[in-house]
Amino acid sequence: MFDAMMIERLNDGRQHVSLRQLEDSQLPQGDVLVGVEWSTLNYKDALAITGRGPIVKSFPMIPGIDFAGTVLSSDTPAFKPGDKVLLNGWGVGERHWGGFAGHARVSGEWLTPLPEAFTTREAMIIGTAGYTAMLCVMALERAGLVPSRGPIVVTGASGGVGCVAVMLLARLGYEVVAITGRTQEKEWLQGLGAREVLGRETLAPTGKPLEKARWAGGIDVAGGQVLATLCASITHRGAVAACGLAAGMDLPLTVAPFILRGISLMGIDSVMCPPSERTEAWALLAELLDVRQLETVVSECRLPDVVRAADDLLAGRIRGRRIVRVT
Ligand code: NDP
Repeated sequence: MFDAMMIERLNDGRQHVSLRQLEDSQLPQGDVLVGVEWSTLNYKDALAITGRGPIVKSFPMIPGIDFAGTVLSSDTPAFKPGDKVLLNGWGVGERHWGGFAGHARVSGEWLTPLPEAFTTREAMIIGTAGYTAMLCVMALERAGLVPSRGPIVVTGASGGVGCVAVMLLARLGYEVVAITGRTQEKEWLQGLGAREVLGRETLAPTGKPLEKARWAGGIDVAGGQVLATLCASITHRGAVAACGLAAGMDLPLTVAPFILRGISLMGIDSVMCPPSERTEAWALLAELLDVRQLETVVSECRLPDVVRAADDLLAGRIRGRRIVRVT
């Protein structure tokens, strides 16, 4: 028997979240059974648990879009018992039971071998947020950005994706401009490598199709007006990687930044990202991140604390990454 967090839909359409004791026979089909050691609280998990976003596609659901642990049994030659693995996305925690449970049964094709540089705990400090930050940086570099081109903006810098993006860009030699609603975190963000820390009002709407060209690139977790103003402020041939919707789903943007400054807007999808790109991202994370610095962005909780933590995350009360000790 193992503990699991379960989201159920009630007859009146509301959802109910509880902790249950389950056994392996109740888990969905899959060729690898994993003993989950750590999971994490991502923005998407918080939307799923609070019911504030249509994340869960079938009920009942064990949330948790990522986890790291040890293979307990495997029907695929790709993995054997004792292997350390991690999982990000693939609809886990949305369509397929996820990481907020002591055991998870999944397709072996969704698992990534744990990089040797990391423990399962460290891999989850990075988690889907950090892996997505890496995908964003890779996209910017594919678009031709290099440190000499100029500063890169990171929005939502105190959050999960944002703080890892700041660390990665700084490590690669970029001048990082962190945008945050929590300017009291200025010193912490500077410690992660931000050269400049600006308030969210920096990207407030002005109604103009083009702003003063200030930055060579950006990593955006916010969407909405924030992303629109950011795109309008990018210098010639610059690029923005867009991965989130913390400020909204809309994009009130004109074509001016594209046709007058030739900027690129790169969409980032970590969920269905092909295995080769995931492997590359995790290898780069292992190369670039300092595990001691990871300790400065993490806080821990256990499964019974996750519901409250989900509220805290959506209210902007969690700095950096919140990991979940599952066993
Ligand atoms: P967090 O909650 O940890 O961070 C989000 C941060 O966004 C907040 O901490 C806050 O930072 C900032 N923020 C919140 N509301 C607003 C607002 N109205 N305007 C501007 N900034 C705001 O979440 P994650 O880092 O885990 O995820 C960030 C986003 O990225 C989410 O939308 C998530 O769904 C998305 N995401 C997408 C992925 C993909 O594959 N495309 C994968 C992972 C995440 P601050 O206080 O510093 O301003």
